[in-house]
Amino acid sequence: MKELFRGGCHPPEKKDATADSPLRPAKAPPFVAVSFSQHIGKPSSPLVKIGERVLRGQKIAESQGFVSAPAHASVSGVAKGVVQLRHPLGFLVDALKIENDGKDEWHPDAVIEHDLDQLAAGDIRKLVQEAGIVGMGGATFPTHVKLSPPKDKSIDVLVLNGAECEPYLTADDRLMIEHPREILRGAALFAKAVGASRIVAGIENNKPGARQAMLEAARELGCGVEIFPLPVKYPQGAEKQLIYSILGRTVPSGGLPMDVGVLVHNMASLYAGYDACRFGHPLTERVVTVTGPGMGNPANLWVRIGTMASHLLEECGFDAGATKKLVVGGPMMGMPMRDLEWATSKGGNGILALTDPVAYEHGPCIRCGRCIEACPLGLLPCALSNYGEAGLLAESIEANALDCIECGCCSYVCPSKRPIVQWVRMEKAEINRLRQLAAAKK
Ligand code: SF4
Ligand code: SF4
Repeated sequence: MKELFRGGCHPPEKKDATADSPLRPAKAPPFVAVSFSQHIGKPSSPLVKIGERVLRGQKIAESQGFVSAPAHASVSGVAKGVVQLRHPLGFLVDALKIENDGKDEWHPDAVIEHDLDQLAAGDIRKLVQEAGIVGMGGATFPTHVKLSPPKDKSIDVLVLNGAECEPYLTADDRLMIEHPREILRGAALFAKAVGASRIVAGIENNKPGARQAMLEAARELGCGVEIFPLPVKYPQGAEKQLIYSILGRTVPSGGLPMDVGVLVHNMASLYAGYDACRFGHPLTERVVTVTGPGMGNPANLWVRIGTMASHLLEECGFDAGATKKLVVGGPMMGMPMRDLEWATSKGGNGILALTDPVAYEHGPCIRCGRCIEACPLGLLPCALSNYGEAGLLAESIEANALDCIECGCCSYVCPSKRPIVQWVRMEKAEINRLRQLAAAKK
């Protein structure tokens, strides 16, 4: 099959260790720390008193505004206090520590069943919002906001993102193999919420089991979902690349999928959407792939939100001596884990223990042009990295730094090992910070 979007790269897939590992629940954690900032937008504000007993699914923090998401207790137990967790990006976030009483008792508000056929578009959006669902592929944008496009943006296609193009990760693959009906029912609900008449699932060719399971489920449910096979190429799962590969539509620079009539959702978010609409369950657990050569027993685990990374590492046979780098997410777009006491969040699909030596030194740009060839957005990564290194923000803006999707292809192919994506990420953060400051002064 021909490659459908420009640029990209082919990092070794390294999915073998967990591709055939069925989903299983992680061992019950002694406590969880549920963050109030697991989404893009304003942090949620705490609702419970310290010392209070909370039940699974109970709302423990309320949204602050529309672009925000509530947080829920992922175990039953006692609220012990607010703790601070260090985000992989370095800043501190508040989280509620809940001591697990092991009873796993659900809150009555979190187990209200619904007849899916009776739910109107507004009901679906409301249930998804109340369940605290966010983009679970890592983007963490609140899902109810994506399900509420402006009136002048008509959505005709819902795209289900089954690419999972990052090396090592198999969480979505296993979810598609084991829960295709739930995913497809979630897709039907999301399509109804936005009025999309067509649903297409894009699945990379290295997941034949997932494709087969989704095909059979679509046939059985008679839901008309099209299954679109995708060539294996990174970053096939990036929204703009996925839309182009499947539909041939180009999202404009600075634009969103809705500008070309498309909405893209991750498989885990669709599953969570079904769970919320059918059973009233808020988002309290997710699948995490815990793997890498430094992990003795790699696995795909159902993990309660707020479970400490140290707890999962212990369960999966983490070899601290051999591991050179721990990563939250995939090796291309993930973040280095700064602190083992980092808690699993809604957007965290993987924990990797990597044993390759970390390259801290880089050479000068030799103008080979490989990064330009690899950039799926058609940017000039070598120039952007030079601007970032020199702090030339005006030049960065001019060169469309904000279009960068931080896929890391440029860094991956660079023979001088230049940390291009890290520089571009810093440039973007600084441009956005200055714009926010300027907007606040108006
Ligand atoms: S500049 Fe950005 S979009 Fe282009 S390859 Fe590098 S990280 Fe990816
Ligand atoms: S790949 Fe690296 S060395 Fe080659 S042009 Fe890009 S930044 Fe320069």
